Amino acid sequence: MKGKPLADRIRSEVAAEVAQLGHVGLVTVLVGDDPASEVYIRLKHKAATEAGFDATDVRLPAATTEEALLARLAELNASDDVDAILVQLPLPAHIDEAKVIRAVEPSKDVDGFHPLNAGELYLGRPALVSATPRGVMALLAEHRAELDGARAVVIGRSAIVGKPMSHLLQQANATVTLCHSHTRDLPRHTLDADVLVVAAGAPALVSPDMVKAGAVVVDVGMNRTEAGLLGDVDPGAAEIASAITPVPGGVGPLTIACLLENAVQCARYRRGELVYPG
Ligand code: NAP
Repeated sequence: MKGKPLADRIRSEVAAEVAQLGHVGLVTVLVGDDPASEVYIRLKHKAATEAGFDATDVRLPAATTEEALLARLAELNASDDVDAILVQLPLPAHIDEAKVIRAVEPSKDVDGFHPLNAGELYLGRPALVSATPRGVMALLAEHRAELDGARAVVIGRSAIVGKPMSHLLQQANATVTLCHSHTRDLPRHTLDADVLVVAAGAPALVSPDMVKAGAVVVDVGMNRTEAGLLGDVDPGAAEIASAITPVPGGVGPLTIACLLENAVQCARYRRGELVYPG
C-alpha cells in the first residue's frame, strides 16, 4: 500500500479547494533549531506552497519564553488572515507543551492536538483529527480494507498517533485492542489482528511470525538507524500480510497531505461553510 499515489491525489484536490477559497493562511511556528523539526517544517511548507496556501514560516529562537510564545499565538488566533496554526513539537524543555497546545484556537488547530479536538474524537464526533491517523484511515479506505467487525490491533498509545488511531478504527466498527510497552505477550495480540497498525518507534518490533496470514499491516514507524530509515515492522512481514505499507513511502506522504486537508477544513470553519462543534 504505497502512500504517494493517494497523497498526490489528495494534494491536487486540496489545491483545487484552495484555489476556490481564494486565500488560505497557514502559519507554522518553530521554536529553536532542532534539525529533525526543521526538515518536517520544510516539507510541510513545500507541500503547502505547492497547493497554493499562503504559508508563513515563523521561526523563534530557542530562548523564547513561554509568555512570548503564548502572546504570539494569541495574535495568530485573532488574525483574520490566519486560518490554520501549527506549532512544531517538541518544544524546548522550558516551555509547557500542554499549555501551548491549549493556547491554539481549536478551530485553527490544524494538528488536531487541542483537548477540544481530541475530546470530540473521543466522543465520536471527529472535528480536526491528527493528520497521521487520518492518513492511515484514508489509505485503508483506498485499499478497501474491511474494518466493520474486523479485529484491529494498534501498537502505540501516543496522543498524536496511537490513541486517535484506535478511536477512528473503533468508529469504523472494528474491535480494537490498543497495545503499548507494558502489554504482556504482544504476539498473542498481533496474531489475532486482521488489521495491524504499528506506531511504536521501535525498529522491526513486529517480526513476520507476529503477523496473521492475510492481515492488512500499516507501519507508521520511522526510525533513523545506522542501517537507514526503518519502520516498526520487519519488511519480511510482506510475505505473510495481504497488504502492507512500505517505509519510507507509506504513511509519511499521507500525513502531509492530510495536514493540508485539515488546513482547508480550518478555512471552511472560519468562513462558516462548516460548523465547528465548539
Ligand atoms: P511515542 O510518543 O514515542 O509513542 C510510542 C508508543 O509506542 C508508546 O505508547 C509506547 O508505549 C509504545 N511502545 C514503544 N515501544 C514499544 C514496544 N517495544 N512494545 C509495545 N509498545 C511500545 O511515538 P509516536 O509519536 O506515537 O510515534 C511512533 C512512531 O511513528 C515513531 O517511529 C514516529 O517517528 C512515527 N511517526 C511517523 C509519522 C509518519 O508520518 N509516518 C507520523 C508520526 C509519527 P508506552 O506508552 O507504554 O510508553
